[in-house]
Amino acid sequence: MDISLSQIRGIGPARLKAFEAAGIRTVRELVMFLPSQYRDLTHTVPLCELKAGDVAAVRVRVAGEVMERRARRLLITKLYVTDDTDTVQVVWYNQPWLKKQMTPGRELLLYGKVEHKQGYISLVSPSIESNEGMLPVYRSIPGIPAKALRQSVEAALKLCEGQWPDELPEPLRRRYGLCERNFAMRNAHFPDSPEALEAARRRIAFEELLLYQIALRLFRNAGHAGVRMEFDDGAPDRFWERLPFAPTGAQRRVLSEVAADLRSEKAMARMVQGDVGSGKTAIAFAAIALACRAGWQAALMAPTEVLARQHYEGAKALLGDMGIRVGLLVGSLTQKQHRLAHEAIASGEWDVAIGTHALITEGVEYRRLGLVVTDEQHRFGVRQRTLLSEKGDAPNVLVMSATPIPRTLSLILYGDLDISIVEELPPGRTPVATRIVPEAKREGLYGFLRQEVAKGRQVYFVCPLVEESEAVEALPAEKVYEDLRVNRLPGLRIELVHGRMKPADKDAALERFRAGEADVLVSTTVIEVGVNVPNATVMVIENAERFGLAQLHQLRGRVGRGSHESWCFLMAEPNPRLKFLASTTDGFKIAQKDMELRGPGELFGTRQSGTLTAGIGSLAANAELLKLTHDEARLLMENPEASEARAVIALARERFADRLRDVAVN
Ligand code: ADP
Ligand code: MG
Repeated sequence: MDISLSQIRGIGPARLKAFEAAGIRTVRELVMFLPSQYRDLTHTVPLCELKAGDVAAVRVRVAGEVMERRARRLLITKLYVTDDTDTVQVVWYNQPWLKKQMTPGRELLLYGKVEHKQGYISLVSPSIESNEGMLPVYRSIPGIPAKALRQSVEAALKLCEGQWPDELPEPLRRRYGLCERNFAMRNAHFPDSPEALEAARRRIAFEELLLYQIALRLFRNAGHAGVRMEFDDGAPDRFWERLPFAPTGAQRRVLSEVAADLRSEKAMARMVQGDVGSGKTAIAFAAIALACRAGWQAALMAPTEVLARQHYEGAKALLGDMGIRVGLLVGSLTQKQHRLAHEAIASGEWDVAIGTHALITEGVEYRRLGLVVTDEQHRFGVRQRTLLSEKGDAPNVLVMSATPIPRTLSLILYGDLDISIVEELPPGRTPVATRIVPEAKREGLYGFLRQEVAKGRQVYFVCPLVEESEAVEALPAEKVYEDLRVNRLPGLRIELVHGRMKPADKDAALERFRAGEADVLVSTTVIEVGVNVPNATVMVIENAERFGLAQLHQLRGRVGRGSHESWCFLMAEPNPRLKFLASTTDGFKIAQKDMELRGPGELFGTRQSGTLTAGIGSLAANAELLKLTHDEARLLMENPEASEARAVIALARERFADRLRDVAVN
């Protein structure tokens, strides 16, 4: 089935090119190009039942003459149709050939939108159909007319008929009541009935979700034994005793899960998920301390240099005190510092290397890598995560994520990981009060900010990223900075941080803010991830309507970290989305809402959603299928040598392994 599309009648060189541009080269790929929706022509509606707003199929005949009228550049074709229950008007635009075709008495099957026009019910620009049934509608491919596309798919299906064996093992299909693949493909394109379409979709979705999750698991180190660490039962508690605060119950529980993984034969592959401020860093440091104490090397990778440095400072203070040698490896080091870092990692002089993706570049050799931690995992791809673990011999892997992901989706995205949730915030946090501030109330806000600064507190201003070329009325960080300095808050100490600054300047500015030498920090979203300044109590977000809910929630998490009352001001006209954010601090609820509002593709960025083919987005909601495939993937991978598992694993490799390389969320 991997034969070229040129084998299909009607596909010449020009169309071949057009298909290729859309990523379709073979007959198989064309058959896998599923409709994005269907026209339901299975039942027609009597004209007397049409209501404005409906999309309907009607069986009618032409009643009377066609009327044509020009309005500026528009050619309007109107005619009346009847089915004995009623007579309604039909309107088309710029279709000059219709006049000749619409002879009185001609029978028509029309499908289209019903609208109110000048007090009358009308069908507006309906398509003229020839067959009843379910008609596929495809995402349009430039250079291929819709009808030609449909015919090409039909021809491709014919070519495949009987030639393309079902690749899913039969017993597996029977266990889950999945229809056979030829039936599924035919009915996914040209359904015999709504029920047949449902069966087809289920089969295709099941196969895709199962293979995707198996592909994810293929990356995992499971299967061969991992690093097994030795320490005694009291070790976690001894770590907690060294902290200036008592751990929350959730931190304690999650660390004991991590500790159990570290001590087991199997390599750990665990994600720790917890809302911003839930104290994941302490858990990571604890795991690192356990590993180093047991004689292993650890690496902690963060997505930004700012965050890596912050972890480095924290680790040096806490772990250094326990006799653990901590080093920093980031891109901005000098060549000589790089060389020294590589040497320290190779010789084992550093027990822990903290850094950015510089940790996984070629040339970095670890001496005895036993634990790999990645912070803010959603910023990394599966491939980057695995590259780091390949630096050791099946080391334990711990990934930390503040992006609360609805459980069903995390199964798809991280099907290869066990999940621990830090569901509790440290005590003494005052929840961040969130207010929406429309432009009319802006002036009052500055007075409030002055008061807070007078009390010794600090303020964040966050601005959305704006491209120079973008013609929007947004406030780039530089403008806000100038405005605050000159007009709004003269006399206060204000710092500016944005993505185009040199890392050293950026760090210096952040450092001044952290040290309390600045009152206000204006930034783009570079502070979104992980920065920790407990004395900052106010977060002002400019153009809040331009951010996603989950991102706003992350930003808001930068304040409310100390014992002082904290505020988040969303600069925007009120809307239901922002009101929802103001009404809750539950990160999981917010993520769920974000997904409902924007769809999972938006939530995870286009690259992520591009990994799965059509129709899976809506499947994120299909918890039942996700759970079935998740469990089946686990069962199959537990016994990968069984013949059924071998077949499915080979299929998963073929279908997904390459595509997974660059999967990144966000
Ligand atoms: P996140 O989960 O967002 O990475 P952090 O690990 O940065 O959160 O922790 C946020 C803040 O809470 C830090 O200042 C940290 O020192 C503090 N913290 C962590 N755990 C506790 C605790 N059990 N009690 C009090 N403060 C804590
Ligand atoms: Mg963190």
